[in-house]
Amino acid sequence: MTRQILVVEDHEDNRRILRDLLTSVGYEIVEAVTGTEGVSMAQIHRPDLILMDIQLPEIDGYEATRRIKADPALRPIPIIAVTSFALSGDEEKARAAGCVAYVTKPFSPRQLLAKIRQHLVSADAKGVDREDAGANPHR
Ligand code: MN
Repeated sequence: MTRQILVVEDHEDNRRILRDLLTSVGYEIVEAVTGTEGVSMAQIHRPDLILMDIQLPEIDGYEATRRIKADPALRPIPIIAVTSFALSGDEEKARAAGCVAYVTKPFSPRQLLAKIRQHLVSADAKGVDREDAGANPHR
């Protein structure tokens, strides 16, 4: 089964890097450019995992994560924060918002992929079943 990852990232260059990396290993990706679009794309697609930039237009990645985690149907989806500047306290804020992991740009492709696999596996172990969750007309 093809796993779908939602990439929420406002910079086209970064979206392209992530798109190339993730599709090269077989993931299907959907993209959002702003925080609010990220929340609605999560509702529409119910992806298997979300990569969430922190600095975003409209609402930031923390707020987008909080809104996704407030929806019981979306809460099980693992969200990995991806941020370009690691200020002290960022990781704590990301975790407090509901992110399961935190990656700093520029990231190592190998480490990012390992982290994605790890959290897809632990979501499986918790019995997250995207088919039961339904609402993905693309598969
Ligand atoms: Mn950004």
